[in-house]
Amino acid sequence: MNDIDTARNKVINREKAKPGLRGKINANCAYCIYDPFGSKGTWRQQVEECTSYDCPLYEVRPVSETYNALPLKGDLSNALPE
Ligand code: SF4
Repeated sequence: MNDIDTARNKVINREKAKPGLRGKINANCAYCIYDPFGSKGTWRQQVEECTSYDCPLYEVRPVSETYNALPLKGDLSNALPE
């Protein structure tokens, strides 16, 4: 296991240990997108910037309250195909 896997697994293991589905969803998103050494921010910031609009977890991916308050950031109405 390399350093990236070790750093990423630390977040994944912490999140998936939380009770309920929220932690498991968080862990899955971290597993999917998080690059701990990519200079793209924290795991949550990287998940916030996810653009896989067709992912079944997109609407429930972990985002901050600040992110949700930004205009258009959480609005998918113009992003999804008709
Ligand atoms: S919402 Fe984005 S980060 Fe989360 S699992 Fe789907 S594609 Fe991956």
